[in-house]
Amino acid sequence: MDCLFCKIIAGEIPSAKVFENDSVYAFRDINPQAPVHVLVVPKVHITSADAICAENSVHVAKIFEAIPQIAKSEGLTNGYRVITNCGEDACQTVKHLHFHILGGKQLQGEMG
Ligand code: AMP
Ligand code: ZN
Repeated sequence: MDCLFCKIIAGEIPSAKVFENDSVYAFRDINPQAPVHVLVVPKVHITSADAICAENSVHVAKIFEAIPQIAKSEGLTNGYRVITNCGEDACQTVKHLHFHILGGKQLQGEMG
């Protein structure tokens, strides 16, 4: 499968890893939108939030268990934002489910 994030998880494309366990991989966004901008992905290929179902939601749960640990290790003691872009209208560019963790500054309130 020609998936950028599957290749990153496999180590075929370099990334700046910040967290990894059996289910989850997290790395720095190559084009950061905030002082801290980390992408958190399931190791299994899930196309987007729209493809989450009972059979794969355990991997999503693992991501949300990892997020507070990542936030703590990144020093995000004053809050942060978690975003997933899903599909064309949300401008999802990489078709492997990923959650952006953004923080390290006062983020703007606008969501769209
Ligand atoms: P989205 O627009 O929600 O699909 O987010 C995709 C994100 O992946 C963007 O924020 C990109 O900057 C980021 N990105 C693309 N290629 C890489 C890469 N090789 N390493 C790290 N982040 C990447
Ligand atoms: Zn993938």
